[in-house]
Amino acid sequence: MILWNNYRPLSEDFLKQHHDLVLYDVFHQVVGLLLYPLHCGCESTPCQCNLLREKINFSLNLDLYNSLEATHVKEIHEDSKFLIGAQVLLNIPQESFFQKNYSKAYPSWLIEKNFNEEEKNFKPVDQLTWALLRLCKTYQLSFLRETRTSISESLEVIFGNTPVKTKRHKNLQDSHGGEHFYKRQFKHYKSVCHFIAALQFMKKAKEDREPVLFSWDQADRIERFLSLSDWFKQKLLLLQTPNAKKKDVFLPEEILPLPSWVIAHDIDIRIEPFAKKLEEINAPYVEHLNAKCA
Ligand SMILES: [Zn+2]
Repeated sequence: MILWNNYRPLSEDFLKQHHDLVLYDVFHQVVGLLLYPLHCGCESTPCQCNLLREKINFSLNLDLYNSLEATHVKEIHEDSKFLIGAQVLLNIPQESFFQKNYSKAYPSWLIEKNFNEEEKNFKPVDQLTWALLRLCKTYQLSFLRETRTSISESLEVIFGNTPVKTKRHKNLQDSHGGEHFYKRQFKHYKSVCHFIAALQFMKKAKEDREPVLFSWDQADRIERFLSLSDWFKQKLLLLQTPNAKKKDVFLPEEILPLPSWVIAHDIDIRIEPFAKKLEEINAPYVEHLNAKCA
């Protein structure tokens, strides 16, 4: 699959001049991918997800272009040049296109509504992503000094170790955000979980003084978001489950790449170990040492 390459025919100078617009365009593509992830497992055929992602990108780009048109004066040469550039970069078609296709649009108010509703799906994905990272840190800091983590053990940390599950309990779990729900959501959003973790991180760190979506003067926040996503992606690609058939928790093709110019810079996130789990792993060694010293 080809991602982020729509700018190829445009010169590097041009892209540098319009860097903010490139950021927005990439972000709008990410929004589409978050609402309709790859490997969607659609049961209806043919799958409409690709088309819906395109509509989302188009709709958000159009809103951005309209806001630019409102703040730039076409009669001023520099403004007019900028708008022509924006039209090319954001793929804004001629007006006659809108007359024919208006009814097929995916309006931005609906995108915003759907995005807000996705929040309940993003939370378990974010939680499990963090648990995978923290569990790995726990094993690294333990006597075992291992790079090791797994989805099942992470779920155990989140939900506690309750081996006996009644049928009622299981049903509750499925509908009310239990282990099965987490597993299902993680599988569905696996390719975009670095974007989800980055978004949630910005929310938690109160870096989202305003809504993450739909603000046209915050290109720096989109840059930060992409940077964070790249940081999470790099960390996730290092995760391993040593005893499993498939050792890598994430294969490179299972997680969406970022544009090549995105660099994870200026990021200082501490991954804390799970204190109780660390104690549990270390317990036999501590006991062994104590016996030796006694
Ligand atoms: Zn689909």
